[in-house]
Amino acid sequence: MDTEKKCVICGREAVFYSEYLKQDLCKKHFERMLIKRVKSNMNSYKIKNQNFKLGSENKCGKEFLKFVFRGMESENGKELCSYTLEDFAISVMSFFLFHEPSNKKIEGNEKFDPLFNVSEKEIISFFRLKKIKLNEIKRNKKEETVLSFLRDIEERRPGGMISLVKAGINLGII
Ligand SMILES: [Zn+2]
Repeated sequence: MDTEKKCVICGREAVFYSEYLKQDLCKKHFERMLIKRVKSNMNSYKIKNQNFKLGSENKCGKEFLKFVFRGMESENGKELCSYTLEDFAISVMSFFLFHEPSNKKIEGNEKFDPLFNVSEKEIISFFRLKKIKLNEIKRNKKEETVLSFLRDIEERRPGGMISLVKAGINLGII
């Protein structure tokens, strides 16, 4: 019996299941899909190719920004923040649970966060496939509690965090 998962695009061996696309993908198409998502976030917020400052809010996020925007780093220009899907999902959930207004916004004055729908899990896998080890971000206790609740939901309903973040965008929370 052939149980090997195959990439939906090219049929080669799949290395990653994308919860975002609900598809199995090979290394090449997983990497392309992730980079394309960041670029399409930039396009949908009409952010043109220019030089960017890269924010260090989230260590995993920053490594990925450095990879995607290499050669475009600069001291001036718009700042690209490095908060990930997890950070925004925690913010939206905290708004609902504790009525805490979010201090993270996808778009702000001279700031934009293109990783709002890219998860740390995806970033860590992206670098693992390049034999670079990244660790998950350590958060404070309250954030960790909310995140473990969100991961629990994600396990039962893959894509739950993305839906939550989309709701947060529609309601103007983030
Ligand atoms: Zn493929």
